[in-house]
Amino acid sequence: MAYDADNIFARILRGEIPCDKVYEDEHVLAFNDISPKCPVHVLVIPKGEYVSFDDFSAKASEAEIAAFTRAVGEIARAAGVADAGYRLIANAGANGGQEVPHYHVHILGGGPVGPMVCR
Ligand code: 5GP
Repeated sequence: MAYDADNIFARILRGEIPCDKVYEDEHVLAFNDISPKCPVHVLVIPKGEYVSFDDFSAKASEAEIAAFTRAVGEIARAAGVADAGYRLIANAGANGGQEVPHYHVHILGGGPVGPMVCR
């Protein structure tokens, strides 16, 4: 799938839409989900134009991948969910239920997250 530069997270990255930012570095931005599914629900996105996890893992630089991975852990610790536990979700494509076609990881926590998959 080609990257859609008008997706909502691209617009947040360009500053066209506000977000409740919790973290930013050279390669990564993180903000609270607009419709939280748990007491803690943070979205972590790379600043580069990647559609999904597989796109990111294939095309991102080592520096971007390292920064992203380290940021997810740092944000989880800063959000206070690391000790009690949390869940990372990266939806990809239609079957994965991905709504926004810019790669992102959900950090969910602050209480029991529930069953892994509901069908
Ligand atoms: P996906 O289904 O693509 O994995 O998740 C997209 C997430 O983005 C959803 O949890 C949704 O609530 C969130 N979202 C959609 N639009 C906005 C927005 O404008 N701002 C923020 N902060 N989150 C958004």
